[in-house]
Amino acid sequence: MFTPTTSSPMTLGGLHHITAMASDPKRNLDFYTKALGLRFVKKSVNQDDPGTYHLYYGDNVGSPGSALTFFPWPGLRRGRAGQGQAYATAFSVPAGSQAFWVGRLKTLNVATSPIETRFADQVLSLADPDGMKLELVFTAEPDARTPAPYADVPATHGIRGFHSTTLAFAQPAATVALLTGVMGYRAVSTVGHRTRYTVASGGPGSYVDILTDPSIPRGLNGAGTVHHIAFRVADDAAQLVAHRILTAHGAHVSPIIDRAYFHSIYYREPNGVLFEIATDQPGFAIDEPVESLGTRLGLPPRLEPHRAEIEAALPKLD
Ligand code: ZN
Repeated sequence: MFTPTTSSPMTLGGLHHITAMASDPKRNLDFYTKALGLRFVKKSVNQDDPGTYHLYYGDNVGSPGSALTFFPWPGLRRGRAGQGQAYATAFSVPAGSQAFWVGRLKTLNVATSPIETRFADQVLSLADPDGMKLELVFTAEPDARTPAPYADVPATHGIRGFHSTTLAFAQPAATVALLTGVMGYRAVSTVGHRTRYTVASGGPGSYVDILTDPSIPRGLNGAGTVHHIAFRVADDAAQLVAHRILTAHGAHVSPIIDRAYFHSIYYREPNGVLFEIATDQPGFAIDEPVESLGTRLGLPPRLEPHRAEIEAALPKLD
């Protein structure tokens, strides 16, 4: 279905955001801000289901490449990460921060797995309160991104944004053809069942790992699993080019959708994971000042007339 080309004019800049499903919104908010030290950069609603939140966490402004977002549905059944899904979500933290994070997460009663070596890095695996698979990648690779300011996570140890997403597929060939033949990704390295792909100038925030470990069970969607992976483009023009190229290669791509904080197109890659391409602009400061990001419920213009009833129906976060 996807025909490889020798050169792709698609200009992706790496990961933009990752969106996952959660159950209790307050517990989700507490974990990502108080345990991991991310900033709550936007309190909004699911535009397709405005009775539920869409919560965004990231660096100080929710820069592309740092934004982890959630649709929390109270009472949502827990899923299981597995084959056919974005299996794990990894953050970039400075090499040498292992003791800080192991100690911090222990103090906070967050279970972690023993640190493993992956390529040249050390990786600490943990789960969020819904069981979502998270990883801290302690890497010496250059990463100039600044962590969100947070009182008890020093910047020398803080999360700088995404490191990578890991996709678990038993039969990855068609996805690899899409990534490398159409989306401009290139293979970096393979160890065991894991192959790493990168795009643009590479480095943390660009990586997509594909894991072909046959012992991983089939994934089940639900709380604690990833809903979609968004890749970044600089602007609307680059997004139009991406739309045209994907369509020419047989992908069923959505129209461009205005998500208020970025413009988006969506398509499903051959193994079933929902991909999105989102613009870097306008960003989260479009409807509230940087100083107070995350405090006022952000609504797209079409929902603004219903603000009072929407706010009244949402669970309280504080
Ligand atoms: Zn998205």
